[in-house]
Amino acid sequence: MSDSYQLVESQLQQPLQNGDVVCNLCLWRCRLRHGQRGFCEAHVNRNGTLYNLSYGIVSAIEVESIRNKPVYHYRPDSRVMSIGSYGCNFRCKGCHNLEISWGVEALDKLARGQSTEAWITPQQIVETALKHGVQGIAFTYSEPAVWLEYVLDVSRLAHDAGLFTVYVSNSFVTAEALALMAPHIDVLCSDIKSLSAEFYHDICPRGTVEQVLGSIRRAAELGIHVETRTNVIPTKNDNIEELTGIAEWIRDNLGAHSPWHVTRFFPAYQLSHLPATDDAIIEQAAEAARAAGLRRVYAHTDISCDCATENAPVSAWVELDAAALNSVKSCAASCCGDEGILVKKFEREAGLLAK
Ligand code: SF4
Ligand code: SF4
Repeated sequence: MSDSYQLVESQLQQPLQNGDVVCNLCLWRCRLRHGQRGFCEAHVNRNGTLYNLSYGIVSAIEVESIRNKPVYHYRPDSRVMSIGSYGCNFRCKGCHNLEISWGVEALDKLARGQSTEAWITPQQIVETALKHGVQGIAFTYSEPAVWLEYVLDVSRLAHDAGLFTVYVSNSFVTAEALALMAPHIDVLCSDIKSLSAEFYHDICPRGTVEQVLGSIRRAAELGIHVETRTNVIPTKNDNIEELTGIAEWIRDNLGAHSPWHVTRFFPAYQLSHLPATDDAIIEQAAEAARAAGLRRVYAHTDISCDCATENAPVSAWVELDAAALNSVKSCAASCCGDEGILVKKFEREAGLLAK
């Protein structure tokens, strides 16, 4: 493993004869030409090999109760160190976390060799977690599938050190990625955002409800402890029949004792014009779910999506040299020189930029 920032080969890639590569980490299954980045912006094809740009790049850290994720039925008295990177495979219009979750600017700077984001090795992350006395590490804020290489390396070391692992996700993930994750991830805290095809199409043109539900069911079948969460957004998914339908799906596919968390939306970004969700809707959804036979239903009127907007800076959590932490991240491999990972050299060669 490199002792400084470097591109890392993606584990689920399928090279094609013409030099394109298919990424099989998430259900976008992006097919990328040389020089192109995937929808998440975190993976790039360089000369027929797919690399992760964001390996070791940490956007946010927080130490907190596992109940904040929210996870209530796995080590409920434990504390976790939450960490995130940059990048998401969805584009939710009410996302609270744009700079981190979509991460477009941060990932663009990495690609151009101009980033000063924190780079932390898996070993250092685990040491930091142990230093803060937590029992687990949670991958959250951004979508963990888009830096799975790092998630897996941290998780292996975390298990060796006696820590458990939590994966907070939108579950737009492939069966192959789930199979890789299963031995190393203890808990999946997954969104079920809606049962409506239009809702998913709006945030991910290739996404379907069935794909997301199928991934959640598969994770449970693989032995991962699953808790689901629905963030109720006024006029978008606050129909009580639809919310009852989600509860019934959980009951029938994950079991009547599978925990479901119902949370409030607070106005953000392109949904700033909508009001915050009325507490009464959250309570109604919970009551309907209980009436449908779901036993562990939690109505949250104080939490929304898991976001990192109020976290202390990463440098406040780690005992690492601040100058090194914030140095410019040029890939340590010799192929880029000081021209950045994409721009000037690879994107131009690939014809993706004006000459
Ligand atoms: S992780 Fe998903 S969005 Fe990103 S490159 Fe791979 S398939 Fe595309
Ligand atoms: S709300 Fe979650 S799934 Fe949607 S864009 Fe933000 S981080 Fe991604």
